[in-house]
Amino acid sequence: MTDCLFCKIINGELPATRVYENRSFIAFEDIDKKAPTHILIVPKAHIESIDAMTDEDTELMAELFQAARDIAKQRGISESGYRVVVNTGRDGGQTVSHLHMHLLGGRAMTWPPG
Ligand code: AMP
Ligand code: ZN
Repeated sequence: MTDCLFCKIINGELPATRVYENRSFIAFEDIDKKAPTHILIVPKAHIESIDAMTDEDTELMAELFQAARDIAKQRGISESGYRVVVNTGRDGGQTVSHLHMHLLGGRAMTWPPG
C-alpha cells in the first residue's frame, strides 16, 4: 500500500533500525520505545490487522510467534521473559493499520495494561 507507513519502511522509502528479516517479516526498533527492548515485527504483506487475517494467513500467524521467539533469543531476553502485543482496531489502540507485533522486554511488565 503506497501510503502505509510500514509498507514504506519495508520497501526502503523510510528509514528504520532493522534488527531481523526473513522471507515473510521484517523487524525494526520502535521509534518510541516503551521498554529497553521494543521491537516491531511486521509482515511484508500489507495486512491491516488481526481482524483482516484469513485462513490463508494461518502459516504467517505461526511464523510471527516463531520470529518473536527468535528475536527474543537474539536480544537475550528469553530467560528473563518478554511480552508480545498486537493492538487491534480503535479500542485496541492500533495506530498504524499494518499488522505488527510488539516485542517488549528488558524490564518487568505490569498487568493489567492500560
Ligand atoms: P500501534 O499503536 O500498536 O499501532 O503501534 C504503532 C507503533 O509504531 C508505535 O509503538 C510507534 O511508536 C511505532 N512507530 C511509528 N512510526 C514509526 C517509525 N517511523 N519507525 C518505527 N516505529 C514507529
Ligand atoms: Zn502496509
